[in-house]
Amino acid sequence: MAVSDTAITIAPEVQKFIGETRKMLIDGKWVDAASGKTFEVYNPATGEVMAHVAEGDAEDINRAVRAARRAFDDGPWRKMSPSQRGRCISRLADLIEQHGEEFAQLESLDNGKPLTVARVADIPLSVDLFRYMSGWATKIEGNTIPISAGNYFAYTLREPIGVVGQIIPWNFPLLMAAWKLGPALAAGCAIVLKPAEQTPLSALKLGELVKEAGIPDGVVNIVPGFGETAGAALAAHPEVDKVAFTGSTEVGKLIVQAAAGNLKKVSLELGGKSPNIIMKDVDVATAVAGASFSIFFNHGQCCSAGSRLYVEREVFDQVVEGVAEQAKKIRLGSGFDPTTDMGPLVSDEQLQRVTGYLESGISSGARPLSGGERHGEQGYFVKPTVLVDVRQDMKVVQEEIFGPVVVAQPFKELDEILPVANDTVYGLAAGIWTRDLSKAHRLAASLRAGTVWINCYNVFDAALPFGGYKQSGWGREMGHEVLENYTEVKSVCIGL
Ligand code: ADP
Repeated sequence: MAVSDTAITIAPEVQKFIGETRKMLIDGKWVDAASGKTFEVYNPATGEVMAHVAEGDAEDINRAVRAARRAFDDGPWRKMSPSQRGRCISRLADLIEQHGEEFAQLESLDNGKPLTVARVADIPLSVDLFRYMSGWATKIEGNTIPISAGNYFAYTLREPIGVVGQIIPWNFPLLMAAWKLGPALAAGCAIVLKPAEQTPLSALKLGELVKEAGIPDGVVNIVPGFGETAGAALAAHPEVDKVAFTGSTEVGKLIVQAAAGNLKKVSLELGGKSPNIIMKDVDVATAVAGASFSIFFNHGQCCSAGSRLYVEREVFDQVVEGVAEQAKKIRLGSGFDPTTDMGPLVSDEQLQRVTGYLESGISSGARPLSGGERHGEQGYFVKPTVLVDVRQDMKVVQEEIFGPVVVAQPFKELDEILPVANDTVYGLAAGIWTRDLSKAHRLAASLRAGTVWINCYNVFDAALPFGGYKQSGWGREMGHEVLENYTEVKSVCIGL
């Protein structure tokens, strides 16, 4: 399963990109870490070292924040018209599209996802996001406010929030960079982006295109490094006005604490344990395909994964057996093998975490209808798993596994399932499968989740806000809602 053995060959420009030690982007220049250190990036299909990247720490974050501060306070970025800013973002979208195959290959090598998936999902969604956000640059507006305090003319301005620290995860490396950079650029902010240590490559490739897109030096700084060092320094930095984070709920809480020093603004897109509810009136084949996609897409490494399946009793056996059958047919392999349906998990740590959950669930009585264990001995593969005979209090039902593992339970009445569906600390997403639309709307209104998909799942669009209730986060990504994360409102009042 070594990459060199697989059917698709790595493009020469990608080979070159990963063959050279990658530097970090600070103030428009590619530089080494101040410490001179580098870290290793692994190919998750083989467990072998694939690339070396400059290891940013607090000192590099300092340098990057200073550059972003200068770019925001004094640089040409603030003086650019909204339409020029929009054009830069739109050019960035075009450039990503032009280099689409390189990005897809880097993403597949780094994250493990099938190249075919990166080509049709990660890369076009990233391009769309930048394109959509480029249009917002010219549409960020204040209001005139009719006030009753006396004879005044009052209005609001919506201004960029300032220097933004952005910390992103490894599950959709380029797309998460796009979700963060796109709106911050549209708002006119300057940015220090820290990609995940497992998957820094596509963000660094993106950094190469920033200048070409016409974005001034210092507006986008990219500092790869570890969470506890570079990430923590960015979240705590006193000169950063806002931190935007996507990752685990556990680290989200650390970000909030770190941000308290200068009370920087915080937005968080965190974990989930999303219920996927299937009623007996569905077409079973459609529901089986939908339930499988909801959990197995991206190897279950989606914060929105439909990881708790609740099926009305009459069709429970048919649905869960159908999902287990699909799971058994999924071909595991390197992302560069065109016959692969599902690649490896991203890292050894993730492999240990997911198999640890499987052991915990099975030892407390859960029964795997498919999978339930690691696949092979090389690389970080886990067999797609359906667990039945689970109880609501089990760890596998309550906690986010972030792998291809779904727990399934039958239910009798809709009224009985709603409190159960809402019974986790998370509130990111939910799915409903039924032909009864009035039931679906009623249920959608009662679910405590930021997104409800009805007769579909994992549908993402740059225009559709995404984010969490409860411990799934603060604020929304995408849509025009995300611009609130990156702007301040100023009230101006004139005595007449
Ligand atoms: P996962 O557990 O899925 O790897 P994390 O929440 O740990 O997700 O990581 C998401 C991002 O947060 C990564 O970029 C990681 O480096 C960063 N990170 C991890 N720990 C911290 C921390 N203490 N402070 C700031 N960032 C962190």
